[in-house]
Amino acid sequence: MNLPWLKGATEQLWQDFLTGRLAHAYIVSGPLGTGKTLFCQHFAKTLLCMDKSELHSPCNSCASCSTFENFSNPDMLNICPTDAGKNINIDQIRAVNEFYSYKPHYGAHKITLIHPATKMNTNSANALLKILEEPPEGALIMLVASSAGHLLPTIRSRCLNLRIPQPNWDTVSTWLSDKLSVSSSSLDNHPTTLFGGPLEILKGINHDNDTTSLFDEMLADLVSLSNGNCNAIEIAKNYDSNGIEGFLDTLEVIVSTTLLAIFQQLPLNLKLCKASSEKIIYLSEKNTEVKLFELSDLIRTSRELLHRSQGVRAQDIIEEIFISFMPRE
Ligand SMILES: [Zn+2]
Repeated sequence: MNLPWLKGATEQLWQDFLTGRLAHAYIVSGPLGTGKTLFCQHFAKTLLCMDKSELHSPCNSCASCSTFENFSNPDMLNICPTDAGKNINIDQIRAVNEFYSYKPHYGAHKITLIHPATKMNTNSANALLKILEEPPEGALIMLVASSAGHLLPTIRSRCLNLRIPQPNWDTVSTWLSDKLSVSSSSLDNHPTTLFGGPLEILKGINHDNDTTSLFDEMLADLVSLSNGNCNAIEIAKNYDSNGIEGFLDTLEVIVSTTLLAIFQQLPLNLKLCKASSEKIIYLSEKNTEVKLFELSDLIRTSRELLHRSQGVRAQDIIEEIFISFMPRE
């Protein structure tokens, strides 16, 4: 697994294991596209591998590794929503109890991977809580989330948080240019803004080189709103409420990049295209840092509202955010 930005987190988990301090449960958090689930799967496969001669890598040939590849390893339980947009339901979490009612088949561990853990509804989360309170011997539960803060405090307090950082642009550009066999300078001159986790950027480039990114689109809309020459409710209709997480993530990056521009600093973790670079400067001149900090707060409270309360309409949140961005004369 050649994802250089995962090195720190990998070393930390192995350090925990080798010193006998491997926790029963970890929240593996980090931005979209940084490979959190791949990271967990790789660690799980290596931990379950029956040949431990190679540090940090599975042998790929023992019975545990072979069954892992076929998704039939009896010591590994994968839980994710059964359909995109659906929650992880309580029956799926009850299966975790069943899974731990048998001893490990190959070694000393049995691993449950829940991704994304934010898709557990309240009932599912409470059922998981019971397992976290009294973890069976050899159990390792890995919860994948973009931020640990999106999970219930009662869950958080029973897990160790392992944060995968957003790599800086130099790391991303070196990795991407190698993957795509292009020069770093051609990435620097890419027609759209490249931001987010490296795997997500790679997917975007492979998918369609010319598509305007969500970042560039939203930035253009915020510029129009700042000018007061468009309607917030109409603009909100352009955004898919199913993608509210991505919407809030992107907006957060735009706000922090604009704040950096106010303080005349450059962002270290994304590559702005020329047009967006000019728009960020425009926003930084048109808006005060107070307004941007208020918007940051609104993003944070919107996330809390989405995760804590049922029946909140994502579309209302998108509208409220755009309305808050309109000029206040
Ligand atoms: Zn193996």
